[in-house]
Amino acid sequence: MKQIVFATNNKNKLREMREIMEGLYEVKSLEEIGCHEDIVEDADTIEGNAKIKADFVTNKFHVDCFADDTGLEVEALGGAPGVYSARYAGEHCSYQDNVDKMLAAMKGQTNRKAAFRTCIALNLDGKSYYFEGRCDGHITEEQRGTEGFGYDPIFQPDGYDQTFAELGHEVKNAISHRGRATQKLIAFLRSI
Ligand code: IMP
Repeated sequence: MKQIVFATNNKNKLREMREIMEGLYEVKSLEEIGCHEDIVEDADTIEGNAKIKADFVTNKFHVDCFADDTGLEVEALGGAPGVYSARYAGEHCSYQDNVDKMLAAMKGQTNRKAAFRTCIALNLDGKSYYFEGRCDGHITEEQRGTEGFGYDPIFQPDGYDQTFAELGHEVKNAISHRGRATQKLIAFLRSI
């Protein structure tokens, strides 16, 4: 079976991708190919960061590779935290720190519209491709639910009464930014 590297060491993302790509590609992690460097994601867009990760691996290890990057864009905050979503509350902050900072920033705000965006950059046979997934919703007044990670307890997708953290993995994966970007990647890989 053909191999492809997913430029991540995130166990949850890896498991999810392996399930989806079963029978199509053998998905390898950074650890499995011996890539232990800390890849500096210093682009100012999620597209840029996804490309930095995919290119680093392809250039150094001469393999096909894809990488993803995600940002939460809040309309009333001018699209922040966007590409800085992971470190919104500071360099080594926790998910809860980010949630607390977001709830404080949105206190009293009536426009609570927000969207998650994921970009996947793929390097395959010497060519580069991008796939994007988007999920629109709003920032809730308070956090609800215990599943998921990151901003899940305060993000309620359009058309649902529950946050991502209440909806659970199956529903979230079917409608989420990452789920949608991944579906596009898989459709492309199946088509070639
Ligand atoms: P990454 O690019 O996937 O590492 O995501 C950057 C940051 O965005 C994470 O550290 C989380 O804070 C947030 N994030 C990414 N995906 C999700 C999600 O599906 N739900 C909630 N937060 C997310």
